[in-house]
Amino acid sequence: MNVDLHTHTYPASDCSRISYRDYIGWCVDNAVEAVALTNHGDISDNLRLGPALAAEGVLLIDGVEISTLFGDFVVFSPDLDYLATLRAVQEALRPGEVPDHAAVVWVHPGAGGGRSGSHYYPGIEHMVAGAVDAVEVFNGSWLGQDHVAIAEELAATLGVARTGGSDAHDPADLMTCFTELPDPITSTADVVRALRRGLTIPRRRRAPVRRKRFKLF
Ligand SMILES: [Zn+2]
Ligand SMILES: [Zn+2]
Repeated sequence: MNVDLHTHTYPASDCSRISYRDYIGWCVDNAVEAVALTNHGDISDNLRLGPALAAEGVLLIDGVEISTLFGDFVVFSPDLDYLATLRAVQEALRPGEVPDHAAVVWVHPGAGGGRSGSHYYPGIEHMVAGAVDAVEVFNGSWLGQDHVAIAEELAATLGVARTGGSDAHDPADLMTCFTELPDPITSTADVVRALRRGLTIPRRRRAPVRRKRFKLF
């Protein structure tokens, strides 16, 4: 199953222009089976969109993005109470701090921390090793060859899974990058397992997916 593992909605991510209506409409119009909502230290949109998407037959994968001194990380877990403890800007998770039910993806590593203002530097992977299950090698905002190369090298050095995610803040950018996951994916826990086992394949799409029609409700 192909899943966009990195998206943002408004208002939980105030930097996003994707409303609930746009998000649900896009999923329905494009026959999306599952999508990950990964707002900045905020699960309020997950709580609202999860049931609304389920009613349309779309599985919402729950995650939260945190910005740290070492860069940005998306933490996935089916435990929303745990995700609710994470903040938009906070300390990096240390090895042993990541619960068994969670998986951590180091997103756009070459770009540094979006909200923490931290910068990538060679060798930083030693600071996060043991607390990262995957590296996002394709990010819709950072597809330059230098950024992809840094991420690929980090994934190889750390020996962890590789993912793709659009990091969409605009409906037109959804699914520009995504991750191929082994079927069946029926829950966030399935995604956590696939990440921890290294069973993910990063994919990218050059042109944005066109919305066929705009659903009003
Ligand atoms: Zn980020
Ligand atoms: Zn993001």
